[in-house]
Formats: sequence, C-alpha cells, structure tokens
Amino acid sequence: MTTESLTQLVAMSNTLGRPENDYVILGEGNTSAAVGDGTFWVKASGAELRTAGPEQFARVDLERVLAVLDGDAVGEEQVRQQLSGAKVGPAAVAEPSIETMMHALCLRCDGVSFVGHTHPTAINVLTCSKAFEQALSGRLFAEDPVAGPQPPLVVPYTDPGLALARAIRSRLTPYIEAHGTAPKAIYLGNHGFVALGATAREVELITATAVKTARVLVGTFALGGPHFPGLGEAH
Ligand SMILES: [Zn+2]
Repeated sequence: MTTESLTQLVAMSNTLGRPENDYVILGEGNTSAAVGDGTFWVKASGAELRTAGPEQFARVDLERVLAVLDGDAVGEEQVRQQLSGAKVGPAAVAEPSIETMMHALCLRCDGVSFVGHTHPTAINVLTCSKAFEQALSGRLFAEDPVAGPQPPLVVPYTDPGLALARAIRSRLTPYIEAHGTAPKAIYLGNHGFVALGATAREVELITATAVKTARVLVGTFALGGPHFPGLGEAH
C-alpha cells in the first residue's frame, strides 16, 4: 500500500505539473496521498510537480501534523521544524511542504485519499477578481463533479502555511456539518485551488473540470455575468 499510493501520487503530480496544463510553474503546488495507516505522503518543499520522483515526497504522521495546527509555532521556520518532526522516516532527506497541514485536514475527511493543490492560471483569474465569491455562488452545468452535488468551499486570502491551514479548518468543519460530506474542491482567494479525491484520477478530473469552468465563468462576464439555472441545492 505504501509503494502503491506513492507510485500513484508521483504519476498524479507529474500530470498536474505538465506545462501544457498551465496549473503550476517551477516549485508551485503540492500533492499528497494517504497510506492508510495514519500516515501520508506529501510533496517535499521546493520540489517541482512536473519532475518529482518518489524521493521528493516525505512520509508524515497525520496526527502529529494536525498537532502543529494547535501548537505554539511562531513563524515559518518553527513550523518547518515541527513538520520535520512529524516525518515517519526522520532520516529521509525530503522535508514536507509548508502546506502539509492543509493536506492533513483534507486527508482526514471521509472518502479523501488523494489531494492536489495547484495554482492554475485560469482559476487564479477568478480567485484574484473582485467577483470571485459571486462567480462561484451557483452551478452552471447539470454534470459538474466540482460544483455538485456538494458546492465548492471558498476561502478568502490568507497567508500560506499555518494561517491558511487554520482558515481552512475553520470553514471545513462547518461545511462538513452542513453538507454531511467533504467538498470536492476548495478555492483559495488570490492563491489557487485544492482538489480532494478518492483516487488520483479523481483529483486530475476535478482539477481539469474546475479549470474549464473557470474559463467559462470568466467569459460570462463579457455578456453580463453567469446565469445559474437553479441546478441542485442553493448555495
Ligand atoms: Zn499554493
């Protein structure tokens, strides 16, 4: 299971990192996969999704990562030290991404085994716009794995790392209480996108669909803004 989840994670990361997708450049974005024993693999800090191999992922203990959220870390350096302390193989060279807490919050949700965080240009046109939250407030298509049946979670801009993870946690808990399930997609204001999937393939599909929807949404503003035909639940 360890090797299998890592193999799938590497392939998913390389796919998300393909230049033609325009989801990330250089070391942007990070990905993770649950092992199934209370640990997960997460991309190493600074590694490129496009070229990352198995050695560029760190294995960490989920509960120890979540403990960093409630801990007393001040500043990025202390957060990095505490994340390093959550590594299952402490001798491993790869150091976990600063967004590892965000991945732990997603992977502890029922049905979520793979997570892909990217900065797609098409989606960031949306998340960097004044009409960001309004544009995501409805559902455009009957068949939409991102917007329905459960709506996406929207998180306004917060500094990356610990502050962002805490902001996600404060919105994810009430979301799950309201909808009975985790979102498939999280939009981060002035930052990017998170896909939560049961499989690596689902993360790729959610991301690709969200990018297409973002392009359509942005286009609608040339013709008066999006028309939501009242599909599914109101949100
Ligand atoms: Zn990011």
